[in-house]
Amino acid sequence: MVNPDMLKRDILIIGGGPAGLSTALHLAQLAPELIPHILILEKAHYPRLKLCAGGLLNDAEIILNRLDLDVSEIPHVDASAVHLDFAGKGLTISLPNTHILRIIRRDEFDNWLAKKAEQRGLELQEGVTVRKVQPQDDCVIVETDAGMFTSQVVVGADGSNGVTRRCILPNVPVQTSRLLEVITSLSGNPVPVETAHTRDHAYFDFFCVPNGIAGYTWDFPTQVNGQPLRCWGVYDTNLLADKPRPALKEPLAAEMARHGFDLDDFELKGHPIRWFNPKNPISVPRVVLVGDAAGADPVFGEGISLALGYGAFAAREIKRSIEHGDFSFNKYRPGLLHSALGQTLLVRWVITQTLYRLRWPWFQRFFWQVLKPIVASVGTLLVINWAKRMK
Ligand SMILES: Cc1cc2nc3c(=O)[nH]c(=O)nc-3n(C[C@H](O)[C@H](O)[C@H](O)COP(=O)(O)OP(=O)(O)OC[C@H]3O[C@@H](n4cnc5c(N)ncnc54)[C@H](O)[C@@H]3O)c2cc1C
Repeated sequence: MVNPDMLKRDILIIGGGPAGLSTALHLAQLAPELIPHILILEKAHYPRLKLCAGGLLNDAEIILNRLDLDVSEIPHVDASAVHLDFAGKGLTISLPNTHILRIIRRDEFDNWLAKKAEQRGLELQEGVTVRKVQPQDDCVIVETDAGMFTSQVVVGADGSNGVTRRCILPNVPVQTSRLLEVITSLSGNPVPVETAHTRDHAYFDFFCVPNGIAGYTWDFPTQVNGQPLRCWGVYDTNLLADKPRPALKEPLAAEMARHGFDLDDFELKGHPIRWFNPKNPISVPRVVLVGDAAGADPVFGEGISLALGYGAFAAREIKRSIEHGDFSFNKYRPGLLHSALGQTLLVRWVITQTLYRLRWPWFQRFFWQVLKPIVASVGTLLVINWAKRMK
């Protein structure tokens, strides 16, 4: 029942992370007349902490540039090469005269993006937690700890554990990966020269796949308050959860020990990521999901560039729905799957289902160390560089 005291907005965006802010910024760019009708609700206050290694691929920068945003305005560290290894040996990717990965801190990045949205006239209410989302025939009722809202369209940009998805698609199965992360000093105890990591390179190592961890460990250069540091972590899609596997901490501790660090000396933090499954619905009439709420990359758990891309895609679909007065969003998922964003998500889903199930050590070694040129070409063509192809 719609109560006349409810606050009205045409477009309500739940969550002010990269996906929600990108949706708002793209709507503002595509249809400036909609700006006064958009409201972003964010439960935290910026700058808020978000557990994330902060690795931005060039796809993220392409989308930001199209919004006239330059991420180099905020503190960052550039990695000149990325290594995709099995047990310390494998494929190295770099680009001529530029970085391959830019590493930001999420408190700084999200705060910067939120300020840019506000500077463009978008309204953002911080410290408001959404409790319930109830789509009706003629509107959506959104219950928050600051009152009730009604809206024509709701965007669920509230991350992997978001309330929007749980309310609108309560019975859809969820695939989540688990991640652990630590921030360390630049170097630990001395290690042999051949083992040492180069300071401005980023490393992924898939040595843990044969043990049932369907993922990798990472080591990125980073900075906190201007101090150069390293960010280490471990990612597991949980795809091999039915097989015996070590505690998630173990491969991370082993990899860090190989580089002279004792994991127990550092504060370990964990958070899950919901990953994309092409079979899952991502909208209902009047409500669409974006970012982790719709599903992140299952291969690497990469989600920032994808969240920005989801925002670009959703903004176009919302503008179209308002122009046609059709809020069914029945073409939202098929449209996404046909887009460059959907295609990279689809390819990454297929890679996850195969690469992490073929867990023989010889295969993983062969894949990362011998098939290098093929892996690099397929990756460049089908996995990354999708943002250039987004309309
Ligand atoms: C350990 C770890 C390392 C990672 N490393 C990388 C990396 O290096 N590169 C990369 O690309 N990705 C990485 N990711 C993934 C990346 O963090 C996510 O994919 C990305 O944050 C998704 O953005 P989002 O906007 O969809 O969701 P989020 O960033 O989670 O934003 C959701 C927002 O919604 C708000 N919110 C939630 N519930 C409510 C509510 N009920 N009411 C109001 N607001 C709400 C939250 O406060 C938050 O601000 C990593 C993730 C983890 C866990």
